[in-house]
Amino acid sequence: MPQYPLLCVIGLLGLAIGSFLNVVIHRVPRDESLVRPGSHCPECGHAVRARHNVPVLGWLLLRGRCADCGTRISARYPLVEAGTAALFVAVAARFGWSWELPAYLYLAAVAIALALIDLDVMRLPDKIVLPSYGVAAALLLPVSLAEGDLAAPLRGLAAAAVLYVLYRVLGTWGMGGGDVKLAPLLGFYLGWLGWSAVAIGAFAGFLLGGLAGGLLLALRVAGRKSRIPFGPYMLAGAFLAVFAAAPVADWYLNLLVPTA
Ligand SMILES: [Zn+2]
Repeated sequence: MPQYPLLCVIGLLGLAIGSFLNVVIHRVPRDESLVRPGSHCPECGHAVRARHNVPVLGWLLLRGRCADCGTRISARYPLVEAGTAALFVAVAARFGWSWELPAYLYLAAVAIALALIDLDVMRLPDKIVLPSYGVAAALLLPVSLAEGDLAAPLRGLAAAAVLYVLYRVLGTWGMGGGDVKLAPLLGFYLGWLGWSAVAIGAFAGFLLGGLAGGLLLALRVAGRKSRIPFGPYMLAGAFLAVFAAAPVADWYLNLLVPTA
């Protein structure tokens, strides 16, 4: 399945989107505009020159410092850009040229923004989560309706309901409200792919969250009463399921019904 032209184009798109996500991650929690003002140094206020605004390369050119005042620029900026490109390429390799590809690229971008905002400020902003329901529906539903195949959307809606109830119940034990609002979106996306993806995504999310919580407790970074953001683990679990659900389900079915 050599699809190198597709992977290259999507990788470059990922770098550009990653650059935009840095703006989203910084400004959305502060309720600032995403377009105005343009990129500027938070320390001295000077506008970032066009050549320094190129993803990853700009940061390397500047050696991680503002061209005007020399203030350190966090390595997180190029890492978000490179990470977005890597996740986009993986999603493109998974879906190929298909009408599902834009929907899952959108989910990848939202996942990176939400995971980092949750780590920064322990919130999953409604401004990002709620419109994503509309975008997911707009990107996924038309083609399945045109093809008259309702299995995937109906499974997606059922899985959204299942994860909503699951997180609602867990919410009474301290799961955040933002997690409860995000769960049905992930349920819809995973249900679209199949029930094995839903099961793996939910399980992997709790497993990763539990491991991270245990590790933070063991290292005494967190106390028994401190809250850890759960969004990053839900999202990581969902993406594990997007990539692994089909192989894992095949392996499991093979255990039950061995084929030659
Ligand atoms: Zn500066």
